Amino acid sequence: MKININNIPEEGLDIQTTKDRNWLQSIFGDVGESDFTLDEIHITCNIRKLQQSVFLNGAIETVIHMTCSRCLETAMLPVSASFRYTLVPAKAEESREEIELSEEDLEYGYYEGEIVDCDPLIYEQIVLQIPIKVLCMEDCRGLCPDCGTNLNLEACNCASDRVDERLAVLKKLKLTS
Ligand SMILES: [Zn+2]
Ligand SMILES: [Zn+2]
Repeated sequence: MKININNIPEEGLDIQTTKDRNWLQSIFGDVGESDFTLDEIHITCNIRKLQQSVFLNGAIETVIHMTCSRCLETAMLPVSASFRYTLVPAKAEESREEIELSEEDLEYGYYEGEIVDCDPLIYEQIVLQIPIKVLCMEDCRGLCPDCGTNLNLEACNCASDRVDERLAVLKKLKLTS
């Protein structure tokens, strides 16, 4: 999504758009592949311009599909995030220093020439929503480390064996104390 800053009227520009599932791939192109996929992405964004600075204030809604770190099945992470960016021209070295980085919820970035490319910013916002540990559900039981059974779907006998071993150790401890 590229916006020519000359097309931003004084009262600002309101954008509502939906990106389809191919959007992610279109960003990566031939460079590589993302380790997640996305449902449709619903984007609303208000764009304003003040002199050379461009202000984006928007929201994203989508669903991230990623591998659950415990059971390796697909985890679906609904995302609803709002974002704010202040963009300044890439070459204006002086104005970079003038920017006060006091407001934590504001993100800063740069645009080249007269074109603001929102795609990398949207991608960044989506990636920010991915938790460090991705789980298909909060209490995902994961795979049995011994036999690989998906313990969300079925039980295996390894676990009960392990519990028995632990109990045996406990019993021994009790006997010796
Ligand atoms: Zn899982
Ligand atoms: Zn097992």
